[in-house]
Amino acid sequence: MRALVWHGTEDIRCDTVPDPKIEDERDAIIKVTTCAICGSDLHLYDHVMPGMEKGDVMGHEFMGEVVEMGKGVNGALRKGERIVVPFTIICGECDQCKRGYFSVCERSNRNKHVADKVFGHTTAGLFGYTHLTGGYQGGQAEYVRVPFADKTHIKVPEHLSDEQVLFLGDIFPTGWQAAVQADIQPTDTVAIWGAGPVGQMTLRSALLLGAKQVVCIDSVPERLEMVRAGGAITVDNAQESVVERLNELTDGKGPEKCIDAVGMEAHSPRALEHAYDRLKQAVMLESDRAAVLREMIYVCRPAGIISIPGVYGGLVDKLPMGALMNKGLTIRTGQTHVNRWTDDLVKRIDDGQTDPSFVITHRVRLDQGPEMYKTFRDKKDNCIKVVLRP
Ligand code: NAD
Ligand code: ZN
Repeated sequence: MRALVWHGTEDIRCDTVPDPKIEDERDAIIKVTTCAICGSDLHLYDHVMPGMEKGDVMGHEFMGEVVEMGKGVNGALRKGERIVVPFTIICGECDQCKRGYFSVCERSNRNKHVADKVFGHTTAGLFGYTHLTGGYQGGQAEYVRVPFADKTHIKVPEHLSDEQVLFLGDIFPTGWQAAVQADIQPTDTVAIWGAGPVGQMTLRSALLLGAKQVVCIDSVPERLEMVRAGGAITVDNAQESVVERLNELTDGKGPEKCIDAVGMEAHSPRALEHAYDRLKQAVMLESDRAAVLREMIYVCRPAGIISIPGVYGGLVDKLPMGALMNKGLTIRTGQTHVNRWTDDLVKRIDDGQTDPSFVITHRVRLDQGPEMYKTFRDKKDNCIKVVLRP
C-alpha cells in the first residue's frame, strides 16, 4: 500500500510499504477514506519530538471502512462499517479507561516500559506518534491496523460526510476538552493562544460552553480572520502587546481562563527570549519552548485556570513558578480523552450546532502529503488544515 513515511527531520515521503495484517483478535483493518495532517505531526516533521524511527508511518487523524477484523471485534463492528478512529488507542477495560481517562489507558502502549521510564508511568498507545507511545503505524495510509478495535472507534451516522466527522478523532474533542477543563463560566473571558486548527476548535467550544468573551492570539492573518468569523476578538502578537491588550479587555484584571493551543514550538514575539529558547532547544538543553506558558501565567487572573492542550514533550526552562503559585492558578492539561467526549460531539454535529469542516483549506491526494507538510508548517498558501484522500 501507499503511505506517508517518516525518514528524518523535514523528510516525509509517500512510499510503498507492506499492507497491515491482523496481529491480535481485537484488531481490525481499516481502509482509510479520509485523513488529515495535525499540528502534532509538525513536532515530528520538525523532529523536536524524539522517538520516531525511519520507516514509521505517520498520521493519527483518520477514518475509513472496516475491511477485516479479528474475532474479538465481532459484535462491536461489522465489515463495511464506516468509523472514525480516535488517535488514542484504548483497551476500554483498565482502571483509567473505566474512569474515562482514555489518553492514559494503562494497557494500549506496547512500549509501556519506555514510557514508564520517561514519564514515570505509561500513557496510552497513539497512532503514528513515536515509539514512546507504542510505535504503532499511522493512518496517513491506504490501510491501517487498529488495535483494540472493539473499543478504539467512534460510530458516526451515515448521512454525515467524512469531512463533517473526521475531526472527531482528534482536533474537535481536543478543543472541546481544552474548554471543558477551563471550567468556563458565563462571566468568563477566555484567552486562547494559537489560532491553528486546535485553537479554532477551542474557540467554537468555548462559545458553545457559554463564555462571555473569547480572545484569540496569533500572528497569521488568515487564521485571525477565521477566528474573528467564529466570534472571537483577536490580538496579533506580532503587532501588539498580548499582556496589555488582554488587561485592557478585562478592566486590568486579566482573563479568568487561559488556553495554550500552541505547544512546544511556540514563537516568541520578543526576539531575545525566542533566540534563547531556540538555542537551548537546538543544543538539547531544553526540549520545549515555553513562551506561551510564561505569558499565560503572567497575564492570567489570580485564582484562574490554565488549560494546556498544546503538546509538550520534555523539559521547559524559566517557568515562573512564583507567579503561578502566589496567584493560585490551576493547571489542567493532557492528551485528549477522545472517546470521553465524542458521543456528545457527534450529536452536536448531527443537530447542526457546529460543523468542524469549516477549518479545511486544502484537499489533496495522499502523494501530495509530503509537500503539504511543508505548506502547513510554513503557513503558506493560506493553509490552515489539510485533508488527504488515500
Ligand atoms: P498549528 O501549528 O497549526 O497551530 C499553532 C498556532 O500557534 C500557529 O497558528 C502559530 O502561528 C501560533 N503561535 C505560535 N507561537 C505563538 C505565540 N507565542 N502566541 C500565540 N500563537 C502562537 O497546530 P494545531 O494543529 O492548531 O495544534 C496546536 C497544538 O495542539 C500543537 O502543539 C499540537 O501538538 C497540539 N495538539 C494537542 C492535542 C492533545 O490531545 N492535547 C491534540 C491535537 C493537537
Ligand atoms: Zn493530533
